[in-house]
Formats: sequence, structure tokens, C-alpha cells
Amino acid sequence: MSLPKQLYKLQQLDIELQKNQQLVGEITQQLSKNSVLIAAESKLSSQKQQLTEWKKKQKTTEWELDDLQDRVNQLNSKLYNGTVKNPKELVNLKHESENLKSKIGPKEDDLLELLSQIEDMAAMVEIGSKEIDKLKQEWEQTQEILTQRKIEAETALTNLKGKRQELLHQITPEALSLYEHIKLAKGQAIAKIEQGKCQGCYITVPTSQWQRAKAGDLVQCNSCTRILYVE
Ligand SMILES: [Zn+2]
Repeated sequence: MSLPKQLYKLQQLDIELQKNQQLVGEITQQLSKNSVLIAAESKLSSQKQQLTEWKKKQKTTEWELDDLQDRVNQLNSKLYNGTVKNPKELVNLKHESENLKSKIGPKEDDLLELLSQIEDMAAMVEIGSKEIDKLKQEWEQTQEILTQRKIEAETALTNLKGKRQELLHQITPEALSLYEHIKLAKGQAIAKIEQGKCQGCYITVPTSQWQRAKAGDLVQCNSCTRILYVE
């Protein structure tokens, strides 16, 4: 195999290597977290927190209502059991009882409103929980597929690295150094000549250079400095 051809093969291996490295990186990134699941879990958690708070408020409101009713009952029994005889005191007791009674209605309305909110939120929590179960199942399947793909890409990487190592044994250190140098500057170090033109810069290559490249000499393009390769 001529030196330009070996270098061209090296370049193809390097392109494949880079693709697979990128793929492994992307898959690792994808496996690291599931943003949709995280967002759904966070939403459910705050809904559950809200539900707990409202249920606490429900208990407090129910206690307050019981307390109000007890106090009204106590006042009424005082009013009607005949133990209080003083008319002024009776009037005061009646006012107090009516004042407390007037607070019961609005509090009952608050409670009903709260119960309705609790019912809606409980339904949302149930829907959210089911959605998360589904997302978790899907994520498990996705993880399996991604892990399999990662293993394949890593195996391909190992094979490519082996091939590259083998090829390097046949390439002189000077040629390799030139290759790496141009690769660093241009991205790709080897350019094919097709229809008389360097495929790196699309400038026509002089016939003498083209012939030397074809014969297997290391010839660099006058315009872009890439090593020329003729198939
Ligand atoms: Zn060129």
C-alpha cells in the first residue's frame, strides 16, 4: 500500500473514531438524566404538598366550626334553662349567641370551597402519579436501548483503535507527524484528487504533482497544503 493510501486510510479511521466517540458522549449525556421525568416528579411533589396543606386547613376549619357550634349551644342553654334571670344579662347573652351564629355560615362556605379544591387536587395527584409510573416504565426501556447502543459504539471504538494502531506500524514517524500537523490546522489532512482538482480546496492540481501523488510520493497541495491522494 502506498504511503498516501495508508494516510488516507488513517484519516478514514480517524473520522470513524471521532463519530463513535461523539456518539458515546451523546448517549452518556442522554443516560445521565430524564428531564421530562424530573419535571413531572417535581410538579407532583408540589401538588402533594399543596394537598397536605389544604387537608390540614380542612381539619382546622372543622374544629373551628365545632367550637363555634359548642359555644352557641352553651349560650342557648344558658338563655333558655332559666338560670339567668337578669333581663340585661339575657339580652347580652342573646347578642353574643347571634354574633357567634353569624360566623358559622361563612365558615361553612369556606369549608365547602376548600373541600372542592381538595377533591380537584386529589384527582390531579392521581393522574400525575399514573403519568409518572408510565414515564418511569418508558425511561427503563429507553435506558436499556441506549445502554445497548453505547456498548455497540464502545466496541466499535475498541476495534477502530486496534486497526489504527496496526496501521500506524506501517507509517513512518515523519509522515505521521506531517499528517497530525495538517490535521490539527485543517481538520482533515488528506485530500483526494478528483477530475484534476484537490477535493480539499477545489483548486486544479498541476499534472506533474498529480502524477507524483499517483506514484505514491508524499505531495502536498500548493494551495491548501493537504497531502494529495489519487485512488
Ligand atoms: Zn488543496
